[in-house]
Amino acid sequence: MNNSILKNYYIDLGIDEKVFDYCEAAEEKLKKRFEKADRIAEMNQIKVIKAMQDAGFAESHLYGSTGYGYNDLGRDTLEKIYANVFHTEDALVRQQITCGTHALYIALAGNLRPGDEILSVAGKVYDTLLGVIGVREEKGSLYEYGITYRQVDLLPDGSWDYEGIKNAINEKTKIIEIQRSKGYDVRRSLPVEAIGDIIKYVKSIKPDVICMVDNCYGEFVETLEPSDVGADMVVGSLIKNPGGGLAPIGGYICGTKECVENAAVRLTTPGLGKEVGASLGITRQFAQGLFLAPTVTAAALKGALFASEIYESLGFKTIPGAREERADIIQSVEFGNPELVKAFCEGIQAAAPVDSFVTPIPWEMPGYDSDVIMAAGAFVSGSSIELSADAPMKEPYAVYFQGGLTYPHAKFGIMMSLQKIVEKKLLVW
Ligand SMILES: *Cc1c(COP(=O)(O)O)cnc(C)c1O
Repeated sequence: MNNSILKNYYIDLGIDEKVFDYCEAAEEKLKKRFEKADRIAEMNQIKVIKAMQDAGFAESHLYGSTGYGYNDLGRDTLEKIYANVFHTEDALVRQQITCGTHALYIALAGNLRPGDEILSVAGKVYDTLLGVIGVREEKGSLYEYGITYRQVDLLPDGSWDYEGIKNAINEKTKIIEIQRSKGYDVRRSLPVEAIGDIIKYVKSIKPDVICMVDNCYGEFVETLEPSDVGADMVVGSLIKNPGGGLAPIGGYICGTKECVENAAVRLTTPGLGKEVGASLGITRQFAQGLFLAPTVTAAALKGALFASEIYESLGFKTIPGAREERADIIQSVEFGNPELVKAFCEGIQAAAPVDSFVTPIPWEMPGYDSDVIMAAGAFVSGSSIELSADAPMKEPYAVYFQGGLTYPHAKFGIMMSLQKIVEKKLLVW
């Protein structure tokens, strides 16, 4: 292949020759790891196709219902497909679920009753869930309904605190919450195998406890999902991995028939449950997005590997490291300097297909204790399966970034981030 044509394209877009050459050399070192990501994508792609075929997915299912949405065969078949992919009895996949937090809320609220307790076994739950549960005071929180919460942190080496978990389980414990991705926490993200270990353990102590996994950012990163290793419910957002970039909204809950039904009556109403909720023609985007999700997730993973390789080789701390196993699509780079953080985000923005001319600046955000800078130029607002980056402007000045619907775009974004850093002379090399 003629590399000089490609190089000229990048030079036209403002990438220096030296940056291009550096990135090409880094990419060369990633071949084996990229191959592995592609292989996982292949397995998941076939799994999704089989799920569609087994559900009898047909062209007539692509058209939606209006009004109440009774007898929406397309919607019901898509839910069957999700249940087939995650190997669960049932699924709830709706655009009436407004975001990941909402999906997690109805999964919890629908399955808990006053006097019940939630136990998080991997430390602090995702920030928005603190408000849902009532750890942070919010109107309408589960705490106001008499539901309590406990958490057990992972041990310093990232392993389960078996003793602590055993001591925390009591007669009130109804749901064990396991968050697969570390989110913006500093702990490790959890491989599916480790999730299986803890589910087995808690069920040996309390067999009827419900194990719920917050699956956000983890879908299709491995060939197994938490529901393959005993989870009663897996929950996530459709503007992350499983929406494949095409879903413009939505969330999902896959799990046992009873858990899904309990969540559905909380989403709609008692007595109506899954029967209502018009699909309004969105089934096509949900299904096509799910079809693309395995390769889109692989693209995002490769982008994360590429960034980790580049910035690690330049001497920065990256989490996960370039050679570590991955359990989600999030990559963080510790820059230790606000100017580097800003330059990085400017680069991501400059490489976007939408709003590339915008300059991201740090801003006060509700719910954060420091200014936050965000870079995103997405087709779907707030979609974090599309290439995006954000960073709280405080020590250790770490950028979190994720997504990339295609690997070439993720690669270009990272090259551009390095270009901005080089242009601002923030790096001696
Ligand atoms: C994104 C995310 C959520 C919440 O999703 P929203 O769609 O932003 O409400 C919950 N948990 C984890 C781990 C996430 O990454």
